[in-house]
Amino acid sequence: SRTLRIGLIPGDGIGKEVIPAGRRILEALPASLKLKFEFVDLKAGFETFEQTGAALPDKTVEILKNECDGALFGAVSSPSQAVKGYSSPIVALRKRLDLYANVRPVKSVMTAKNPIDMVIVRENTEDLYVKEEKTYEAADGSKIAEAIKRISEKASFRIATMAGEIALRRQNIRDGGAPSIHKSPMVTITHKSNVLSQTDGLFRATAREALAASRFSSVGVEEQIVDSMVYKLFRQPETYDVIVAPNLYGDILSDGAAALVGSLGLVPSANVGEGFAIGEPCHGSAPDIMGKNIANPIATLRSVALMLEFLNEETAAAKIYAAVDGNLEEGKLLSPDLGGTATTTEVVEDILRRL
Ligand code: NAD
Ligand code: MN
Repeated sequence: SRTLRIGLIPGDGIGKEVIPAGRRILEALPASLKLKFEFVDLKAGFETFEQTGAALPDKTVEILKNECDGALFGAVSSPSQAVKGYSSPIVALRKRLDLYANVRPVKSVMTAKNPIDMVIVRENTEDLYVKEEKTYEAADGSKIAEAIKRISEKASFRIATMAGEIALRRQNIRDGGAPSIHKSPMVTITHKSNVLSQTDGLFRATAREALAASRFSSVGVEEQIVDSMVYKLFRQPETYDVIVAPNLYGDILSDGAAALVGSLGLVPSANVGEGFAIGEPCHGSAPDIMGKNIANPIATLRSVALMLEFLNEETAAAKIYAAVDGNLEEGKLLSPDLGGTATTTEVVEDILRRL
């Protein structure tokens, strides 16, 4: 048997309602999986900032680094006006734990008219987000602003390798009983190398090279220019399995893709580095519905499964995905964001029954 130590960081707002649901589903996994969990409650977020002066206390980072195998992060509230000393703890966590990939699966119910089952694998450390910008004056005194777009062979290779591994694992999870529209794994490399031949050209060539490894022989590889990709993403989303993209395109594509499935309350994500993963629902702290027990817990439950995938617990992940899909397909106990009347607790309990 294996014991995994999981840091729980609820954060603010509905984070405090959905992270306990994530803990419950881990505790409810069948004993036959021989998996045990220990939980460590950790602080981060705006409330933590107001109490302690730090949005991400050092203690939280140290415990995650030294004691935990993975973590679940709820959501944090960011004030709309800048508050001195406050910056987003999840951005800081990604940096301090070198979580170089942001992974976002987008899946609809399989009985939908246009079923969707894709995952976007976004490079998370470079590209335009190195934030090396400058502003200067042209000869006529008007302003010019410039930013560095940095693409490295190393970061491109490791993100494409991760995309290949995810494609293989998704096949295993389908084989393990999670319903899907895909028959065989496929990775789509996204770029704009027809214009940016050096930067995106390097990303494209390196991703091709990484995916040519023999262990990916069963994974199909295709590539697409990012603008035509957006068109196809909206017209034929069912054609995509795994998408790998540099940081900026990945950011835009993953928010766009999330809109295809109706509610933010359904979409999970993971921040992944070497041997560590943080599951995180894509939604924010939703102050408009907090404290009412109506937040959709599914984004979090799927984030739990995604975290388990990266901790090499595919069987456990497949069970959670199948239980969630079962709840959505039956469609009797849905939260209000999906047009239902069920409470958070009722949705969680229905999904636990299906484990
Ligand atoms: P939001 O995601 O919190 O909410 C957007 C809308 O979606 C709201 O109407 C909300 O009720 C609904 N919604 C979100 N999650 C839901 C769920 N699980 N079930 C049912 N409905 C759900 O985004 P926002 O309103 O723009 O931001 C609110 C706060 O969250 C802000 O302080 C913002 O800075 C923060 N935020 C945090 C993150 C994060 O922690 N990663 C992401 C986005 C926003
Ligand atoms: Mn974004």
